[in-house]
Amino acid sequence: MTFSIHGLPVARGIAIGRAVLVASSRVEVTHYFIQPDEIKAEIERLRVARDAVVDELQRMQAEMPKDMPPELGAMLDVHLMLLQDETLAYEIRRWIKERLYNAEWALISQLEVVVRQFDEMDDPYLRERKADLEQVVDRVLRHLKGAATPIAAPPPRPPRQQDLGLDDTLDVPLVLVAHDLSPADMLQFKKSVFAGFVTDVGGKTSHTAIVARSMDIPAVVGARSASQLVRQDDWVIIDGDAGVMIVDPSPIILAEYGFKQRQGELERGRLARLKNTPAVTLDGQKIALLANIEQPGDTEAAMAVGAVGVGLFRTEFLFMGREGKLPDEEEQYAAYRAAVEGMHGMPVTIRTIDIGADKPLDDRRPDTHLNPALGLRAIRWSLAEPAMFLTQLRAILRAAAHGQVHLLIPMLAHASEIRQTLELIDRARAQLDARGAVHGRVLLGAMIEIPAAALSLRLFLRHFDFLSIGTNDLIQYTLAIDRADESVAHLYDQLHPAVLRLVADTIAAGARAGKAVSVCGEMAGDTSVTRLLLGLGLRSFSMHPSQVLAVKQEILRADAGKLQAWAQAVLDSDEPAELLVG
Ligand code: PEP
Ligand code: MG
Repeated sequence: MTFSIHGLPVARGIAIGRAVLVASSRVEVTHYFIQPDEIKAEIERLRVARDAVVDELQRMQAEMPKDMPPELGAMLDVHLMLLQDETLAYEIRRWIKERLYNAEWALISQLEVVVRQFDEMDDPYLRERKADLEQVVDRVLRHLKGAATPIAAPPPRPPRQQDLGLDDTLDVPLVLVAHDLSPADMLQFKKSVFAGFVTDVGGKTSHTAIVARSMDIPAVVGARSASQLVRQDDWVIIDGDAGVMIVDPSPIILAEYGFKQRQGELERGRLARLKNTPAVTLDGQKIALLANIEQPGDTEAAMAVGAVGVGLFRTEFLFMGREGKLPDEEEQYAAYRAAVEGMHGMPVTIRTIDIGADKPLDDRRPDTHLNPALGLRAIRWSLAEPAMFLTQLRAILRAAAHGQVHLLIPMLAHASEIRQTLELIDRARAQLDARGAVHGRVLLGAMIEIPAAALSLRLFLRHFDFLSIGTNDLIQYTLAIDRADESVAHLYDQLHPAVLRLVADTIAAGARAGKAVSVCGEMAGDTSVTRLLLGLGLRSFSMHPSQVLAVKQEILRADAGKLQAWAQAVLDSDEPAELLVG
């Protein structure tokens, strides 16, 4: 039966494929694809873990004191029986063999299938057995954890399908459906070839959504119970424009979306022709369209769309999901240098680490502070860990010897933070000089993403060569709306008059001081506000590469001079959104 689930649109386009559920579990599970020649070893890994749990339970049974309640013995019997159930084991092996899921993923996938069957049972005794099964699976997962070596490998070519009228010569795309994915998980999946993805939680500018956007596949977040309602292998359509997932579509709906998908591809083809067209408005204003990247390899995508530099390299992604072992100076230097060289002489803006809030260093140890978005995040963490910060600064300064590097500092608000940061940059330089290491000059910039910074522009313009407006956080902190929380996503409003005022004032103050101002938050890549930002005087936009050509198209059609008066009217309005329609 066809039904649809609504969420927040994150990345545009239509994806049609079979659902791959990344199930949640009480034990943290890594999901990855194995290679076909690893199937035997993976099944063996599972067998070893299962046997270890059987041993453990049998030992518990043997050592059980005589006066233990009989229910405990019965429970152990049930657990052993489930563990040795051949049908269950066969189904789990099938996920490994046919889908190339790693053992943990296979186990969790089958658990989900069985749990649903239990839930549908009328017999309360049998329904209760669900908890037993979950406990057994948890035990096996714990044993697997010790032995697991997650390697992100591209998924196999999916099986051929001939049903539902799809072209049977094509491989069926896979669509990822999960309750939640950490930004580090997303990076893992970035190496795979999913056609689209949906999560239950998350806001439009949560970091998971941002990495999803960088995968350039249709995506929907905040779809609430999607991962509960969809089953493994269900046919689904992801409409990344409308923020909708359609499950089990009828042939008519499939045909309609197939048509929309082809239209989208044609549009992309048309936009691709703009790659080498300079981004100049009708009245001759030159606009810099820069790329946001998370990894050095992303420079390829930036070059492919004709970006004229990197406006934001989110370096924290090099630090995440490494179980506490941070990259040393050499590793970081290699990464920054690769990004600089990847842009072939064009500027690369490297932002120092912005860890915290919804970007924990380690998924397995999420930030447990009372309010992580207001806590020890970004520059605050860097200043609290000067050895780590100096290592990063040295690596960036060394990379600057290979090209144009702009050094960008996130989340500054206080004069004292600016002072300490500048001192540490000087110290990093002195350390490099002391050991005779080559380093280069950098332009120094500050993110304007805390309202206090946007209200202290004189201070910032005195100390920095350029400013970059982080609208994602500026909106979050101005409106007191957690950007990652879908329950308040309707109030996360980039057009709130207060937000626009702070953005406009920053652009104007930069222009008066003769210093460059860029926007590197998601607003820069949102074509619905390109004309407004142009009218407010913005001349530098940094966004994910997938957005660059669409924004360029808007710029080519705009007259920046004529937009000025209208932009001022929008700024003065109590309901700016009304003036933006049409
Ligand atoms: C922002 O806050 O707008 C920004 C660009 O930084 P991040 O999204 O990484 O917090
Ligand atoms: Mg930010």
